[in-house]
Amino acid sequence: MAPSSDLSVPTGSTVDVSVILAGLVTYPASMVIKEPLPGNEILPETPCYSFLIENKAKEKKVLFDLGLVKAWKKKLPPVVLDQIASINGELTIQKDVADHLLEANVPLESIDGIIWSHHHMDHVGDPSLFPSSTSLIVGPGFKSNKMTFPGYPKNPDAIVSDDAYHGREIIELDFPTSSLEIGGFPAIDYFGDGSFFLLYTKGHTHDHLSGLARTSENKFVFLGGDIAHHAGEFRPSPQQPLPDEIHPSPLDKNPFDPQLPPLSVCPGSVIEKLYPRKETHPDYRTTPFYEPNPLMSASQLDALAALEKLQTFDACAKVFVIIAHDVELKDFLPYFPNKINNWDTAGYEPFVKWRFLKDFLQTVA
Ligand SMILES: [Zn+2]
Ligand SMILES: [Zn+2]
Repeated sequence: MAPSSDLSVPTGSTVDVSVILAGLVTYPASMVIKEPLPGNEILPETPCYSFLIENKAKEKKVLFDLGLVKAWKKKLPPVVLDQIASINGELTIQKDVADHLLEANVPLESIDGIIWSHHHMDHVGDPSLFPSSTSLIVGPGFKSNKMTFPGYPKNPDAIVSDDAYHGREIIELDFPTSSLEIGGFPAIDYFGDGSFFLLYTKGHTHDHLSGLARTSENKFVFLGGDIAHHAGEFRPSPQQPLPDEIHPSPLDKNPFDPQLPPLSVCPGSVIEKLYPRKETHPDYRTTPFYEPNPLMSASQLDALAALEKLQTFDACAKVFVIIAHDVELKDFLPYFPNKINNWDTAGYEPFVKWRFLKDFLQTVA
């Protein structure tokens, strides 16, 4: 396990972090993953997480991503609706993030900013529901890219609705002016007190940001956005090899006979069988199962470099990595208005960390 000092995080204050489940999406794995394995062709009901970040000392609140928009059929640009239809995608959302906040008596005026990890429809939600005092924070190159700015219909090429921008300040982050680097990523100390950092994690898109929130003195939650869509894109790794044994077992079926009860411990012999390309990967214990689909990356080179850096965060016991659509966490996270600051004592790991291995169960037989 790498200590967090390896990541060179400056010391600082803390923030409260809550997760809002902002919709579910079902889509073919091949859209985001290169060569998905048999039995893992569809990514069913994957969550879209939005995060409320509260800096109590500075009396500031920001949201990191908004997930889906409830009125998606009405609000998404036609080109995005066509894309969803062409992949037989399914979107499920009952409440916008704004609804969740209002139900918990959090006034929308108290939200200082909405940070978009990137401009895809399963992250941008509906900022038009927020007052104009809520600014929008976006990654480098956002305002100069025809796909993102201005929005649709003002700009027919845009895949973001223009009403997201109406009347509000849009802050495009500029990383070259910041000399800070964390874990190899250019970084900005967002509140200026070491409590929440935005990292420039380009690759999936040109404007892609991740967040690093300090949840206690030396513990962090890494908000990964779409840096990966499946945990198998960054696990296992040289810093975090496939374990010899996983207790409790992350497999929900008995790998030897589905009629028998699930195993309480997942033994090494089963874990080894789960790795599908052993013959071609002699270093399979330290190589991720998957690679991102290059067609979904703005730059595959940058996407792979970002995943490699992510592996150091993921192997660090002081960091809890949550990618925007981590389906394995869906049934275990306590959602807003609860906080996840006690993630380190809540015992999610190693159970959820290796739970994605169940996706490869079919290959054992
Ligand atoms: Zn995306
Ligand atoms: Zn996404």
